[in-house]
Amino acid sequence: MTGRHAPEQVTCNGRAYAMPRAPTVVICLDGSEPGYIEKTIAAGRAPTFARFLQDGANLHAQSVIPSFTNPNNLSIITGRPPAVHGIAGNFFYDPATNTEVMMNDPRFLRAPTILKAFQDAGAKVAMVTAKDKLRLLLSHGLAYGGGRAIAFSAERADAATRGLNGIDDVLGFVGRPLPDVYSAGLSEFVFAAGVRLMAEVRPDLMYLSTTDYVQHKAGPGTPLANDFYAMIDGYLAELDRQGAVILATADHGMNDKHTEDGAPDVLYLKTLLDGWLGRDRARVILPITDPYVAHHGALGSFATVHVPEAVDAGELIGRLEAVPGVELALPRAEACRRFELPPDRIGDIVIISTRHKALGTAPELHDLSGLDEPLRSHGGLTEQRVPVLSNRRLAIAQGRALRNYDAFDLALNCVT
Ligand SMILES: [Zn+2]
Repeated sequence: MTGRHAPEQVTCNGRAYAMPRAPTVVICLDGSEPGYIEKTIAAGRAPTFARFLQDGANLHAQSVIPSFTNPNNLSIITGRPPAVHGIAGNFFYDPATNTEVMMNDPRFLRAPTILKAFQDAGAKVAMVTAKDKLRLLLSHGLAYGGGRAIAFSAERADAATRGLNGIDDVLGFVGRPLPDVYSAGLSEFVFAAGVRLMAEVRPDLMYLSTTDYVQHKAGPGTPLANDFYAMIDGYLAELDRQGAVILATADHGMNDKHTEDGAPDVLYLKTLLDGWLGRDRARVILPITDPYVAHHGALGSFATVHVPEAVDAGELIGRLEAVPGVELALPRAEACRRFELPPDRIGDIVIISTRHKALGTAPELHDLSGLDEPLRSHGGLTEQRVPVLSNRRLAIAQGRALRNYDAFDLALNCVT
């Protein structure tokens, strides 16, 4: 940022960020369980990652719980936990209206984004996300026109937006055909767009967010995963050559959630609670549920349960804790304190499952027909550790416990 009147610091949600001296790119590598990058390096297919890890920064951070995509992307882009920004999942149950409400709409967002704060301070900003579900949230508040902000999704790159996102013809600009929403190509489009934006627009600050299609299908070191990270490696090399400061982290990790014979290993909570309390007395919410369920069947490791007032939640928690596969069952207040969640968007009880167990409602309520590989998913404590890497060295206080939503702080305040 070289504008004569640009401030040296930008404050957003109580955190101060330095104006970048070089174009700065923060990347969310969706579902990047530690090990994917290392194994691609070991296979000799990620020389750029290898160089970053060696000469730049190679750290780990904790994501927010639930270790789902939207809460973590919003934490990264606001620099704060869900208690501040309000997005605790893809949807929540609102007892006041007795409805299950999608949280994809920006009206549920309670904090401004770092990108907006930088645009307001005079910086040129850009945001590209894989799935369209995140676009409105991540680009909330940006003002288009004059090339000062550009924001679009790969999924809807064909939309005739007529400059509403800062650009008229995204497909023409990126020079690639529209990718399939369930493909590695959706994330490749994000990177191709990022490189193109850096070449043509050179934003001061850019956020790129991929999708975890590959990680839901294949574990670290598999041919599919190595191909994916080798593809990313090539684009990182370009961004690095373009002179960008690059800071990459992830929204969550990923684990196998299936039995030895490849069937999903699921604890069906509605079935269990219907048996204990009577049919439909408890309402189980799986906040991973979204319009794109094909690759996980709405099965993750985090659930929240609403129970009628007559039910003793404490006693129920005691019974739940004894169920195999339950890692944690907590009352709302304790869960919100521990995980920094917004209490009005969380049920009476929060349940988290163990590493290889998924949580469901009832077998008949999950469409698993789109699951063509053994289930891999996320949402719990066992998918909370994520990588933090950079092409630059980072100066970080000794003993500092990193969160993935420190990404902009690290990229803007800690690069050396
Ligand atoms: Zn994700």
